[in-house]
Amino acid sequence: MTERLTTLGLRGVREMQLHQNRTVMVSVSRSVLRIHRGYAYAPDRILRAVVAFLAPETPSGERREAEEAVLAFPVQRYVTHQLTRRKRAGPARRGDRRLLAALAQLHRKLNERYFRGELADLPFRISDRMRTQLGEVTLEEHTDRVVEISVSRRHLERDDWYEVEKTVLHEMVHQWQAQMGLPVDHGPTFQEKALEVGIEPAARRDVLPALVLSGFQPTED
Ligand SMILES: [Zn+2]
Repeated sequence: MTERLTTLGLRGVREMQLHQNRTVMVSVSRSVLRIHRGYAYAPDRILRAVVAFLAPETPSGERREAEEAVLAFPVQRYVTHQLTRRKRAGPARRGDRRLLAALAQLHRKLNERYFRGELADLPFRISDRMRTQLGEVTLEEHTDRVVEISVSRRHLERDDWYEVEKTVLHEMVHQWQAQMGLPVDHGPTFQEKALEVGIEPAARRDVLPALVLSGFQPTED
């Protein structure tokens, strides 16, 4: 990211530190730039705004606009990807193949019933890590495509299949949001679609990026 920022005109910074808290996204002190690591995934337009925001010669009106553009970039989504990638898959267990096949079949059934078959096929993963969380979607960097749905092993072992169906459907609503280019969250489009497909519009089945940052930490298995 240093190289990109320099190419885009950043001057007077001798060191860059990446961080991941949301209190101050970008700051410079004694020639040290501290910047949220999510900006590594930002397009040039946003990084140009970072440069303009930091340059002392930028007029104040322009600086305010630059600041708005910088803050509008959804850094937290990209941090989640990093958390997601750090996760270790648990060891495959006996019966997993059959469970994964059942989940894939469920996805096809719900896809036909509620999404006119328009959602892409995608792999499932059984997570040994989730304790209270029931499901999760993994978004691909840059494209924000949902590439995987994870379901908690605890959930699969303890709860009725009917509950698992609700979890998968919940994650499929997120997949639908991503496919439609909508923000992947529990906002109005989620609520509306959840009601349409007959699941509760509450967020209690999973943890999405914004919540991840306000306290959720992945635990290693
Ligand atoms: Zn959700």
